[in-house]
Amino acid sequence: NRRILLAQRPNGKPRLEDFKLDEAPLPEPQDGQVLLKILYLSLDPYMRGRMSAGKSYAKPVGIGEVMEGGTVGQIIASRHPAFSPGDIVLSHSGWQSFAVADGASLRKLDPAAAPVSTALGVLGMPGFTAYAGLLTIGQPKPGETVVVAAASGAVGSAVGQIAKIVGARAVGIAGGAQKCAFVRDQLGFDAVVDHHTSDFPSQLRAACPQGVDVYFENVGGPVWDAVFPLLNDFARVPVCGLIAQYNDTGRPAGPDRLPHLMRDVLSRSLLIRGFIQREFADQRPAFYTQMAAWIASGQVQYREDVVDGLDAAPEAFIGLLEGRNFGKLVVHVADH
Ligand code: NDP
Repeated sequence: NRRILLAQRPNGKPRLEDFKLDEAPLPEPQDGQVLLKILYLSLDPYMRGRMSAGKSYAKPVGIGEVMEGGTVGQIIASRHPAFSPGDIVLSHSGWQSFAVADGASLRKLDPAAAPVSTALGVLGMPGFTAYAGLLTIGQPKPGETVVVAAASGAVGSAVGQIAKIVGARAVGIAGGAQKCAFVRDQLGFDAVVDHHTSDFPSQLRAACPQGVDVYFENVGGPVWDAVFPLLNDFARVPVCGLIAQYNDTGRPAGPDRLPHLMRDVLSRSLLIRGFIQREFADQRPAFYTQMAAWIASGQVQYREDVVDGLDAAPEAFIGLLEGRNFGKLVVHVADH
């Protein structure tokens, strides 16, 4: 069994030396368990947090342990009555080629309904994050302006398209001309701004002539600085992720801006609300039905960035934190 372990905790940006490739004997399923051959591994920004020992909402991966991650696998052997060899399931098996999993933790996938890799993206955790965070916290109304960064990515692409479906105006922020063209022309956002350009704040202002009613926060950093002055009274800010800060090793330079921020939260009656998607788990059944319908009708499009082979996962993950992925990043581990 080929596995990728956490070799050491990164300091700042992860490097290839922080990961270790390893071979271990195939695990044996016990009663109630199955043996899985992993087909796809999801690479997600939250994994950077799991590599660090600092306090977070989830336990870190231990040194020498298999890196954590969502996976799609095919059952090779089953000791659980609900699963048979050949079934394809969603599991959380991590960065490895084979894994044992409790049957109770699995969700069976229908390969005829959608490509199975989408269970890691638009029809999985990232798509659900967009759906629950935008509709429950953001609550966009027809005619309002919704802004989202990392707009070509797994979460952001769904946020903007759902905003359009409910009648809002979607403004995307993305890195580079190619991603911006995709967000505008393929995903159908009303406007898109490249955050790498030098006059990004003024371009964003021009793209939001009525101000911003919902800012779905995916990145933090300079993008937040550009959006914040544009927030309208009663704007809602679902704080989903802060990827621009995940590799930071200390506090940012410069004066403390918190008193300023709090003054504006008060005077503009802003709602800034963080969330972790599993908080909304009771909405998952509705999400699966709704998102499948939106994909079938063409109202939601998605793009995957598929990397070949488990060995390529560390390099691809490092790239995710630098914006090198273009679409939902998944590793193709094996054929089914
Ligand atoms: P993406 O597929 O969007 O990939 C990450 C993208 O982030 C990159 O492609 C890049 O896009 C952008 N990015 C990276 N670094 C920076 C930076 N310094 N400044 C601005 N943009 C940057 O990832 P996901 O859709 O999976 O995740 C998006 C966000 O959602 C992350 O912050 C993640 O942690 C969060 N998340 C939160 C969840 C929750 O429950 N709260 C659940 C799932 C995700 P570009 O080149 O266009 O800038």
